[in-house]
Amino acid sequence: MALAFAYVYERGSEKARAGLLVIASTDPLTGLANLYRFRESFQQERHRAERYGSDLTLLVLDLDYFKRVNDTHGHAVGDQVLIHIANILRKRLRASDLVCRVGGEEFTVLLPETGQEEAIQVADSLRLLIRDTPYREQAGTVPLSCSIGVALWRRDGETLEQLMESGDKRLYLAKQAGRDRVESGQPKG
Ligand code: GH3
Ligand code: MG
Ligand code: MG
Repeated sequence: MALAFAYVYERGSEKARAGLLVIASTDPLTGLANLYRFRESFQQERHRAERYGSDLTLLVLDLDYFKRVNDTHGHAVGDQVLIHIANILRKRLRASDLVCRVGGEEFTVLLPETGQEEAIQVADSLRLLIRDTPYREQAGTVPLSCSIGVALWRRDGETLEQLMESGDKRLYLAKQAGRDRVESGQPKG
């Protein structure tokens, strides 16, 4: 695959090259960005945030009890659920926000010019939307929920790796606390 890529990229037409770049940066199941493209966008947004002194927030979202969905309805329905989730995320977010399927049933969202308060609101509205929009199939509906960890650029780290780690930790806390919730690291008042 990598060799074929290198060959077409070197020798191919402009159009073939553009097509390859799309394939290499897209998750084939959902059409969302993959981690490669997400990383590139993060660098751009980070530079922008540094330059303009704006905020930047990362959400790490993982579906709750997804194994159960596969076990109960089969892997093919599981795949359809992932597409369904991707569509919900795409629809709810702004064009400037970037959604990525990191792998499995885990997604990340990059929110430019978004600070803590607003990020928590966005995360919570995604959580509610996913809970209120079950996947419908012939046999009935598949109830869904997700947990989300929020990480703020600068407060929680400078690099994507640091933010992912921080978001992952909070995601884990949200799971431990019972799932279907957002953990932002903000003291609860
Ligand atoms: P938790 O609430 O703790 O997140 O529970 P979970 O069952 O969602 O957690 P876990 O991460 O252990 O399981 C994820 C499951 O997602 C395991 C795997 O079978 C399934 N999975 C991963 N990638 C895919 C995929 O591309 N398609 C389908 N259908 N299932 C997938
Ligand atoms: Mg899960
Ligand atoms: Mg997972």
